[in-house]
Amino acid sequence: MNSCLYQMLSFKVIAIKSLIWLLVLYSLPTINAQSNPLNLKFLGTAGWELSNDSVTILVDPYISRIKLGTGPSISKEDNRKSYIRTDYYESDTLLINKIIGKVDYILVHHSHFDHLSDVPYIAKKTGAKVIGTETTTNILRAYGISDDQLYTVKGGEDYQFDDFSVRVIPSLHSALGKKKYFDSRTYTQPPKAPLQIKDFIEGGSLNFYIRFENHKVLTAGSMNFIEREIQGLQPDIILPGVNFSRLEIYNYTERLMKATNFPKIVIPAHWDNFRVPYGYSQESALEKKIKPFIEEVKAASPASKVIIPVHLETITIK
Ligand SMILES: [Zn+2]
Repeated sequence: MNSCLYQMLSFKVIAIKSLIWLLVLYSLPTINAQSNPLNLKFLGTAGWELSNDSVTILVDPYISRIKLGTGPSISKEDNRKSYIRTDYYESDTLLINKIIGKVDYILVHHSHFDHLSDVPYIAKKTGAKVIGTETTTNILRAYGISDDQLYTVKGGEDYQFDDFSVRVIPSLHSALGKKKYFDSRTYTQPPKAPLQIKDFIEGGSLNFYIRFENHKVLTAGSMNFIEREIQGLQPDIILPGVNFSRLEIYNYTERLMKATNFPKIVIPAHWDNFRVPYGYSQESALEKKIKPFIEEVKAASPASKVIIPVHLETITIK
């Protein structure tokens, strides 16, 4: 009798133990699937650090935020060196060392200074691979970055890497100068380094559609896009350019939201005044650009959530 009770009890213990193991085993894949959130750190301008457990990607990292020109965007409190467009560009390497750690890849939308000029230093310092146009990679060669770090693309490529894939999308630059901007120059060979600020020419424009383990992100370096090139993409996160020049484009926000299937999360980029250092007020840009943009998104895609990024702060999307 006693031994029968003992047997029943021990059977129960084994059954419960097995059940617990089964629960653990079944829940493991679920935990893993949800445990690789995407971190988006806003570097200002069109710059981002996108990272998860497996990979760190920079997009258009422009950290130096040089004091360029004499216009209203310059701050009187900013007593750093002033630049004009014919000056040779110098990266603020101390600041970059503080902000940028490990990097695996750098994606560059176009070669203007506010997208590319800090990439030579960052690529050299971190050994990161760089994906960009012929002009972008030739500028990097000019600064001594080796060919094994460079992927030259023109738009249309869809490349698989170890921890992400990226579709390179042909795009258009912002319609600057009231739509009079046009620059077809490219560097088909490395120019002479160091470059003057004006020699960071556009060299064509791209968007990137980056697929991570749990998220798909559409990035932008300009306030423009080619509708047929982004049509049918299903990003859950978009990082659109939101400067004033978007107003030169027909129904910019509505067409963007519709073409990308009304993404869940919209995080505006390229709206800040990048001629002042981090930490300076961006109130005017927030008021004049971000506020109306939020209304545009609300009208075009009411279910989308707009997150306003803050310099050097990280947004984590589970
Ligand atoms: Zn540009």
